[in-house]
Amino acid sequence: MFPRSVERARRAGFCAGVRRAVGMAQDLIREPAGDLVMWGALIHNAHVVSELERGGMRVVETLDGLRGGETVLIRAHGIAPDLRRQIMDRGCRIVDASCPFVLKIHALVSEAAAAGKRVFITGDPRHPEVEGIVGAAGGTATVLSSVADVESLAPWQGKAVLVSQTTFSVVIFREIVDNLSRKIALLEIFDTICEATENRQLEARRMAERNDVMLVIGSRTSSNTMKLVDVCKSASRATYLIEDADAVRGLLSAGAFADRRIGVTAGASTPDSMILE
Ligand code: SF4
Repeated sequence: MFPRSVERARRAGFCAGVRRAVGMAQDLIREPAGDLVMWGALIHNAHVVSELERGGMRVVETLDGLRGGETVLIRAHGIAPDLRRQIMDRGCRIVDASCPFVLKIHALVSEAAAAGKRVFITGDPRHPEVEGIVGAAGGTATVLSSVADVESLAPWQGKAVLVSQTTFSVVIFREIVDNLSRKIALLEIFDTICEATENRQLEARRMAERNDVMLVIGSRTSSNTMKLVDVCKSASRATYLIEDADAVRGLLSAGAFADRRIGVTAGASTPDSMILE
């Protein structure tokens, strides 16, 4: 019934960017100056977001949802410069919790686009962080999610830069780099995958190799959590995405852990309290 051993990843739970964003939200709630709004759910964790909502913050996803005079907290993913202007044009104050690593990517692509270079981004085109980076590049960047996307590109002779969504898969990024640099001679490559993401994926892979079952705690809407699930599965381990403690109770009573070595990791938006529970 019970596991033989349980190993917890050393790098699991909030990354620096998420910890900072949640801290800024809590500070705003402690000393509110008018109505408080999160631009999109602050992190990919329903428990944390509901707690902030109970503290008085609303989640808003569209400009029409804003009322003038509100304080709008921008999440760690960042937003496109155009959108930032539109929020301010609505008479709202912005408190910016964009992760400094993401802002660095914005600066890179905006400089490249201004210099007439084509911008490529590895990532998920529907992810808010990628939408923000595309916006910072002037709206014309090409997003590549897989090697197949590189294969379907028309030849390009000009200068180009490649950056990545910070939570993209390290393995797929390298594959895309190999293929794209064969296609574009004048390509500058910036590996902007966040160290927190890279280290977590490496540690998860090693843990998956020495344990029988991997538990990845986090939300299915969290990009970096789902990448950890993929990494553990690619080591051919039984892998479970754990969105709340009930899921663990269910697996325990079904005997899924009986006499097995269990590895536990968690996405960057998973609070410590949830990992401990
Ligand atoms: Fe910032 Fe890295 Fe966390 Fe993304 S994963 S919010 S880039 S620290």
